[in-house]
Amino acid sequence: MEGKIIKGIAGFYYVYCEKNGAPAPQGKVYECKAKGILRHDHQKPLVGDNVVLEVLDEEKSLGNVTQILPRNKSLIRPAVANVDQAVVVFAVAQPSPNLNLLDRFLILMEQQQIPVVICFSKEDLEEGAEGRKYCDLYRDCGYESLLISTKTGQGMEELKSLLQGKTTTLAGPSGVGKSSLVNYLQGFSVMETGEISEKIKRGKHTTRHSQFLALGQDTYLLDTPGFSSLDLFSLEKEELWKFYPEFLPFEKTCRFLGCSHIAEPDCGVKRALEEGKISEIRYTNYTLLYQELKNKKKY
Ligand code: GDP
Ligand code: ZN
Repeated sequence: MEGKIIKGIAGFYYVYCEKNGAPAPQGKVYECKAKGILRHDHQKPLVGDNVVLEVLDEEKSLGNVTQILPRNKSLIRPAVANVDQAVVVFAVAQPSPNLNLLDRFLILMEQQQIPVVICFSKEDLEEGAEGRKYCDLYRDCGYESLLISTKTGQGMEELKSLLQGKTTTLAGPSGVGKSSLVNYLQGFSVMETGEISEKIKRGKHTTRHSQFLALGQDTYLLDTPGFSSLDLFSLEKEELWKFYPEFLPFEKTCRFLGCSHIAEPDCGVKRALEEGKISEIRYTNYTLLYQELKNKKKY
């Protein structure tokens, strides 16, 4: 039988199995240990791994993970295997979006080559028109961007179709409506199933945890705790521009090799900025992040 690891605690892996392809919540969670052969090969299962399991006790939902199926893209923080994409939510207002924080998130995902869908939420608020501007700004940078509202349902069908058949990590600062979004998507929380959930709770020391939701067949959402800051610690300032997809076509026309697009003359990126082909907001945040990386203490 095959399933997906939705949680790993102290050597136990909680494996969700769809039942004959039936949609969630008809699946079942098995509490598993990794079989010795895996440990022997130094293979450590990750949350998100698709695995082969052998059932030891159907009634008690116990099993062994015997094989890890080939992995697709993985996230490093949090460590999750087989993440197809990220959905990041920022509100158009209340709270107004911190685009510097959004850009940091986008850079982290670019580094890990995870495609991002940006959702500007609370579109129903008066500032909806402002939201359209944000949406267009990021769409022009090459990102899939949606204006959504859980109050009116705006953008939700489009979002659902983008989630279909994929494993998506859901992120964003707190207060932007992530919980409302999850409720709207009517996720069946695969963690909140009877006694398994009790077992998981006992092994947990914090309420801030990432949670897997099964939305449908082969469709999972990883709800992660809200963040208020993001550190770009593993990035060199010289590399920063590479994670701005809209800079790439213009960098080729910079006069200097290794141009930082900050103070050099005859810079293609700054030319594109002057011609309005690159957003001033994005470029300003680029210079701020560049300075931050420059001032970063080297250990
Ligand atoms: P979270 O902290 O990101 O999980 O955000 P919540 O889902 O708890 O929502 C925070 C606040 O925003 C609550 O008061 C919600 O009622 C409100 N909210 C959520 N979605 C929307 C929306 O689409 N429109 C409006 N106007 N308010 C929303
Ligand atoms: Zn340049």
